[in-house]
Amino acid sequence: HTPAAPADSLLERRSATLGPHAMLFYTSPLHVVSGNGVWLRDVDGEDYLDAYNNVPHVGHCHPRVVDAVHTQLGRLNIHTRYLNERIVDYAESLLATFEPGLDRVFFTNSGSESNELALRIARQHTGNTGLIVSDFSYHGNTIALAELTTGLTVKEPLGRHVRAVRVPDLAGPLTEAARADELDKALAEVEKAIASLTATGHGVSAALFDPLFSTEGLPWVPREYIQGVARLVRAAGGLVIADEVQSGFGRVGSSMWGYQMYDVTPDLVTLGKPMGNGHPVGAVITTAPLSDEFGANNLYFNTFAGNPVSAAAATAVLDIIEDEQLLANARAVGEYVRGLLQTLVDRHDFLVGVRGRGLFFGLEVGTSPTDPRPDLAKEIVERMRTKKVLISKVGRDDSVLKMRPPLVFSTAHADLLVERLTECLGEIGG
Ligand code: PMP
Repeated sequence: HTPAAPADSLLERRSATLGPHAMLFYTSPLHVVSGNGVWLRDVDGEDYLDAYNNVPHVGHCHPRVVDAVHTQLGRLNIHTRYLNERIVDYAESLLATFEPGLDRVFFTNSGSESNELALRIARQHTGNTGLIVSDFSYHGNTIALAELTTGLTVKEPLGRHVRAVRVPDLAGPLTEAARADELDKALAEVEKAIASLTATGHGVSAALFDPLFSTEGLPWVPREYIQGVARLVRAAGGLVIADEVQSGFGRVGSSMWGYQMYDVTPDLVTLGKPMGNGHPVGAVITTAPLSDEFGANNLYFNTFAGNPVSAAAATAVLDIIEDEQLLANARAVGEYVRGLLQTLVDRHDFLVGVRGRGLFFGLEVGTSPTDPRPDLAKEIVERMRTKKVLISKVGRDDSVLKMRPPLVFSTAHADLLVERLTECLGEIGG
């Protein structure tokens, strides 16, 4: 066996080791070396406005997070089977951000682990296996989650116990009657899914949804729909799981948790991505009865989850959200940027509308709501990279420009983003 000749570029070495399929953004990949706030610096010392990354929630390399991790790492890092204040302090602070009743937490290391555990709790509690998810969604990379994935390519077929329903998108200028009709149709689909799960012996264990429907392309889902789903699923004996991996920690601006936009209190809430500002930490929040029931029947152990360093990172994130008033910032800057984006929609025939909430916003690219233009969306993302602004695209047709910057994004950053977008759209024409 002759070892492969050493590749000379980083790109070749990456491909040789991580494999040619390992995802990489851009035709000309960006080689990043450092980050600061909403800025990323590349290997040539060029700065890029980061309007894409939501994991560095309070900004890249926030000094308070760096310091908290560094200090704790120098003192103690260990699993959770000994008494240590760090994790308990954090659990108290985190749970204080939820409604009474949601008063227990299990720690994990990722969004996938959180969803996997939430599904397990729901299955055991209900004695059912059936699941309702939104069509074209993504919730993680385990086998159980691959079996309910329709928003990404996976080889696992949709589980026989899974029904993927299409959520209503009431973004357009619809009459009241048309709205009511869409809502009725969408809820009828949920009723049908429940009937089918019941008839096939799966029953309903849970409905799992991302309150922003981010992979789905940020449709405008009315609160009556989520309330209706919760009512129907609970009537069938199932639980409600809100996946806050994308929508949590103030991202939506109007509330700390995305599900609060709908005035529905879930039985289980799953957390990940922004929780540790890049340090891998996640959680499942639930009620004391569900937590106790699961705890009585399972010895759940997770080596790295909730270790003191994770707790230190996550504590710093919560403190910063509060001290820097990032929820209010997400609301104000989100509204500001959507106003600016609307002026672009008004000017260009190939933009359909503005999407999203808080600091997760999008622009739908297409010549009409039924004629998406993924080619143009791709071109805009690539052009923005040459103008040193990072955005992406998402959705069923890959035609919604996706922007979800760190929450320290200011109106000045928004101006810069829109200025560059304006240039791009002008270059493309129309
Ligand atoms: N849920 C949602 C809504 C997600 O967007 C993701 C990741 N994109 C996950 C869960 C999975 O999280 P992780 O990659 O941390 O496992």
